[in-house]
Amino acid sequence: MRHSTILFLLSLTLLLDACYKGKYVDLVVHNARIHTMTDDTKVYEAMAIKDGKIIEVGPERQILNKYAAEEELDAGGKDIYPGLTDAHGHLLSYAKQKLSVDLVGCKSFDELLVRTEKYQDQYKRKFVVGRGWDQSLWGTNELPNNEALNLLYPRTPVCLYRIDGHALLANDAALKMAGITPETEISGGIISIKDGKCTGLLVDNAMEPMNTLIPPFPRKEIKSAILEIQQELFQYGIVGVHEAGIEFTDISLFEELIDTKQLQLEVYAMLFPSKANMDFVRKKGKYRHKNLIIRSFKVMGDGALGSRGAFLKQPYSDQHNHFGVLTTPIAEMKRIATFCEANDYQMNTHAIGDSTNRILLDIYKTIFEIKPDHRWRIEHAQVVDPVDFVLFSNYGVFPSVQPTHAVSDQRWAEQRLGKKRMAGAYAYNTLLQKYGMLAIGTDFPVELTDPFLTIQAAVKRKNGDNFPAGGFYTNEAITLEECMKGMTIWAAFASFQENRTGSLEKGKEATFVIFERTVQAGDTYEPNFASQVFIRGEKVYSTDY
Ligand SMILES: [Zn+2]
Repeated sequence: MRHSTILFLLSLTLLLDACYKGKYVDLVVHNARIHTMTDDTKVYEAMAIKDGKIIEVGPERQILNKYAAEEELDAGGKDIYPGLTDAHGHLLSYAKQKLSVDLVGCKSFDELLVRTEKYQDQYKRKFVVGRGWDQSLWGTNELPNNEALNLLYPRTPVCLYRIDGHALLANDAALKMAGITPETEISGGIISIKDGKCTGLLVDNAMEPMNTLIPPFPRKEIKSAILEIQQELFQYGIVGVHEAGIEFTDISLFEELIDTKQLQLEVYAMLFPSKANMDFVRKKGKYRHKNLIIRSFKVMGDGALGSRGAFLKQPYSDQHNHFGVLTTPIAEMKRIATFCEANDYQMNTHAIGDSTNRILLDIYKTIFEIKPDHRWRIEHAQVVDPVDFVLFSNYGVFPSVQPTHAVSDQRWAEQRLGKKRMAGAYAYNTLLQKYGMLAIGTDFPVELTDPFLTIQAAVKRKNGDNFPAGGFYTNEAITLEECMKGMTIWAAFASFQENRTGSLEKGKEATFVIFERTVQAGDTYEPNFASQVFIRGEKVYSTDY
C-alpha cells in the first residue's frame, strides 16, 4: 500500500513537472552569465523568451525545467548583457564621412594632401569634402591654412572638416563660392585671417555658409553607408544609437530603411531646433515609427575645446584673452526650452565649456521646477566649474558623457585649460555622484564606435594604446558596472525607454548580446566582440555566418 502511494506521488510529480515543462516559449538561452543590469545587479544563467519578450530570467535548472523551447541556445558560459546603446553618436555624419575623404588619423598635413588627391583621383567629385583631420597628431598646436590646397586645387572647391566637426579648412575656390571674405562677420563663429587674407579656416557658425553649399551625397550612397555602420555597431553588440542631431527631412531616409527591414538599430533621434523642425513637432508631437523615436531636440551651446570654440568662464590658458564662443544666444536657448516644455520634448544641449554648462544649468532650472523628472540632458558636460556640479543634482540634469573624449583630449586639454581647471574637466565620477546616472556614448565619428575603448577610458582612464600608463585623472574613473549601466539601463532612462528595454528582466524586450570574451577592464585594452546579437528575440547578428 505504502509502496503504491509513493509510486502515485512520484508519477504525480512527473506529471506536474511535464505540465510545468509544458510552458512553451520560443527560445531558452542557458549556460550563460546574464548580467541583468537590474537594481540588484543579479547575474543569472538562463532566460526564457516568447514573442520577443523575456518571460523569466533565473538559475539554469529553474529555467530549463520549467520551459519547453522551440530553440535552446547554449551560450557556452559567456557574458550576456542587454544590447548596448551608444547614447551620443552621429549616424548621418558617419555615413557622410564614409563617403568623403577619410582624414582620420592623418599623421601630417602632407598625408592629408596625399589622401585628398587619392580620393579625388578615384571619385572625381565636383566638390571635394573630407573629414577627420586633427592637427594635434601632426606635432603642432597650430591650425592649418589653405596655401597648399590652393596650389593643388585652384578651381575645384575643397572643404575639409576637423575631427570634432567644429572647424573646417576650405580652399580659396570654396571660400569664393560661399562668398566669404576677410570682411565677412558671422556671430558665434570665427573666420581666420592672416595678413588681411582668409586662411581658409572656419570655426563653428562660420562654417554655416560652407555647410549649405556642399552638394548632398546621392541618397542611395548614404543609405548603404548607414547599413555598413549598422553592421559595425552590431559586431560590438550595439543595438541602439541616440542620434545627436538630424533634420526632420532626414526622417524619411531612416523610415525607408526601417520599412524595408534593413535598419534594425533603434534610433533615438534628436532634432535640431530649426523653425522647420519645430513646425514638424507642433504638427506631430512626440513621434515614433517602429524603431525610430523622436521626442527631443539637440541644441548647440558652444564649440569644441580642441578648436578653442568651447565657451569658458576665464580665458583659454593657451590663447590670450580668448574665451571661445556661445553658438546659440542665451535668449534663443531659453526660447527653445520653453518650446520643449510646451511640447513635452526633451532638451539635449551640447555644452563643453564651463560657462556654457553654467548657462544651461540655469536655463534647465525652469523645467525642474515644473517637472522634477524631466531628464533634460547636457551633452558632454566636459568642463564644469567645480562650484556648479551641485546644480546637476539640484536641477535633476542628466549628464551625457563620452569617456573616450577624456583620453583623446589628454594630449592638449591641460594646455587649453591650465592645471586648476582640470579639476572639473572630464569629471565623469563626480557627475555620476551628482545625478545618480550617466548616459554613455562615443560621439562617433569623432571617436571610434568600439564600446570596449569606452570601457577602458571610463574605468582605467586610458586609451587603446594603454596611455597614460597610470591613467588620466583616475579620481574621475567609474566602475565597469557603472559604465555598462551607462550603455544599457541608464541610456534607456536617458531616452524614456526604461520600461521596455535596457535591462534583462521579466516583461522587457529580449534585446541582448552574447560577447565572445569576458567583459572586463584589464590593465591594457583588449578587443572584444559580440558573437550573437538579438533584438526583440530575433537574431540580427552572428559570427557563425
Ligand atoms: Zn556629437
